[in-house]
Amino acid sequence: MQSLLAERNSIPRRSASPIAPVKHVAIPASPPPAPPPVVEVRPTLPPGEVYERLACVGEGTYGKVYKARNAEDGSVVAMKRIRMEGEKDGFPVTAMREIKLLQGLKHENVIGLVEMMVSKGFVYMIFEYMEHDLTGLLAKPDLTLSPAQKKSLNYQMLDGLAYLHAHSILHRDLKGSNILLDGRGTLKLADFGLARFYSKRRKDDYTNRVITLWYRGPELLLGETVYGPEVDIWSAGCIMLELSTGKPIFQGRDEIHQLETIYEIFGTPSLSAWPTMVELPWYELVRPKSTLPNRFREGFRGKYLTDAGLDLAEQLLAYDPAKRVSAADALKSRYFTEEEPGMEKPDLGEHGEWHEMDAKATRRKKREAAGESAGR
Ligand code: AMP
Repeated sequence: MQSLLAERNSIPRRSASPIAPVKHVAIPASPPPAPPPVVEVRPTLPPGEVYERLACVGEGTYGKVYKARNAEDGSVVAMKRIRMEGEKDGFPVTAMREIKLLQGLKHENVIGLVEMMVSKGFVYMIFEYMEHDLTGLLAKPDLTLSPAQKKSLNYQMLDGLAYLHAHSILHRDLKGSNILLDGRGTLKLADFGLARFYSKRRKDDYTNRVITLWYRGPELLLGETVYGPEVDIWSAGCIMLELSTGKPIFQGRDEIHQLETIYEIFGTPSLSAWPTMVELPWYELVRPKSTLPNRFREGFRGKYLTDAGLDLAEQLLAYDPAKRVSAADALKSRYFTEEEPGMEKPDLGEHGEWHEMDAKATRRKKREAAGESAGR
């Protein structure tokens, strides 16, 4: 049994913010006035063992995620462990960013940060535990989601996103493995390691090397660095299509191939649909050699999406970021408000636990089995 000996005394008792003792760390954005923190910093902290690790359930870019039990009250949590080693300023910037953003957020569809701790060489972020992520769940062989359940998941995703955007936060890494679900079918957006505050009045210049390739919008693929919440909306559109088909929809190998896979479905963008495309840094460099037609409706109508679903997906995946629907307006679309069936949360209690890690292990086993039978 492994357990964590947390140096909880290193968290300031009276401070409003649990990250107050960490000094000299540059925070990437200047945030708007902070709302009151919701991360718990308990006034009296018992020494000794706090969280007992039960299993490793995930591996992010910056550290492992464990399912763990709180020895004090038996509650099950997720514990993200981030190594401090090699950090210039002694505290991982991504963890700092994630904590700073999450501590002001409270919404049914955004993951809740319970507390954070610092222990020898590691920062631990403690989250509410979620039994599944969308990538893991969609890889589960015997799971079928009804149209009403898919609609509920789309709604919850956009509701969480509308909340983030209303609070001037860009997520910048929406993808199946960052969309978590509990046994009652409640969806929560997670992993704020790449998220940042943005200015609603003025569009700032950021890096375009954000968002996992398959969920990255065409403007980022064409070199855009001045962007806003539309980049998350494109990712949400990709996830809506992934939910409808069961697979990530644009599976590019590199940036250019990513654009090609998008063009294969939505056609090559026209100047009338996206006039500012010509101003993008890499427009000339990666100009398509031929013109492809838009095959989206013929490929998705009926089999994967209803008419109202097609309309919404097209608005989320508009080539021109300026024409992309906002998350708040998407929630008011006909798909959610008028068209039958209504929404129904999926009951996932009987489905064990499925994370991206399980999906990867299943794929690895399949490959090994195929290799063995081929070698026989
Ligand atoms: P992250 O580092 O946040 O990207 O997390 C990596 C993986 O760990 C995710 O894809 C999930 O499968 C898993 N994970 C992250 N947070 C939680 C949580 N709160 N509950 C359960 N699993 C989680």
